[in-house]
Amino acid sequence: MSVPQYTGTFLAKRFLNSNREAIRKSLPIKDPETQRARDYKKKLLMKQAKEYLPYRLEYQAKRFGYTYDKCRLTHANTRWGSCSSNRTISLNIGLMQVPEQLRDYVIIHELAHLNHMDHSKAFWAEVGSHDKNYKLHERRLKSFSPGI
Ligand SMILES: [Zn+2]
Repeated sequence: MSVPQYTGTFLAKRFLNSNREAIRKSLPIKDPETQRARDYKKKLLMKQAKEYLPYRLEYQAKRFGYTYDKCRLTHANTRWGSCSSNRTISLNIGLMQVPEQLRDYVIIHELAHLNHMDHSKAFWAEVGSHDKNYKLHERRLKSFSPGI
């Protein structure tokens, strides 16, 4: 880890401690046992996600009157979902590990991006009209990591 010179070791340590999980997940794994376990978990989550996320997305889209083109499942380490300008919505299979309300929040967040490709006031107003606890959900989501 490299830190600017003016950052004391105290701050550097605090950063390490509060980001330990994320840092650990971003490091290459040397132990084949751990790698195998992670591959297996990924497979299992992908199977669960395939049977759930596209249907949940469809359900929420119908409920709030959105039309999207495709649903893609991803396993990026850093994002829960995304929405592209060709109306493809990507959802992280790690969503299968978070509480249902947070999963729905991510789906609603990405659906709202179909109308607003930014995080403008209008975007958040739209999210808020479908999920009145969106601020709480956004905050709670930060305590989970999409990495497997
Ligand atoms: Zn967003």
